[in-house]
Amino acid sequence: MKKRRAIFFDRDGVIVTPILRNGKPTAPWRRDEFQIEVDVHQILSLIGSFGFLRILVTNQPDIAYGHLSPREWRWMQSYIEQLPFDDIFVCFHTRADDCLCKKPKPGMLLEAAKKWHIDLAHSYMIGDTDADAKAAAAAGCKSILVEAPYNKELQSDYKVNCLFDATLLIQNNVL
Ligand SMILES: [Mg+2]
Ligand SMILES: [Zn+2]
Repeated sequence: MKKRRAIFFDRDGVIVTPILRNGKPTAPWRRDEFQIEVDVHQILSLIGSFGFLRILVTNQPDIAYGHLSPREWRWMQSYIEQLPFDDIFVCFHTRADDCLCKKPKPGMLLEAAKKWHIDLAHSYMIGDTDADAKAAAAAGCKSILVEAPYNKELQSDYKVNCLFDATLLIQNNVL
């Protein structure tokens, strides 16, 4: 079977507007904090048209930490599920759980690669934190950081201003 290329997306800070608490980017905890970034639906459609699988890989420990209820999380997730992703992988664990899926570990990317026959060396992970860049490196794919005030110091293969610029970068590397 021919292997396919994929774009892996982080959720908070890429697909969903991050909420800054004490200067750190976090997930929304309340419905009035939840906002999907502009043009995400169209950008995902465009990336799909380049032939890439679109896979969300997200750490979501905040239910376990008691910051929001499963009910509130599912309300937000219902909007995420309306976006044109080919698959969604979620790690609900906390650091104390020491699971294999929580980024910066590459577990979710490797699981997706197995399920979808993904060519990781020619795939990309778009994120906003060190965990995303490190998970990409550990999985053997290229990392793209969407620049924000809180990630200026981080290392990655590419840096872009916004999700649309990431799309242009991918398009230029493909065509
Ligand atoms: Mg993030
Ligand atoms: Zn996990």
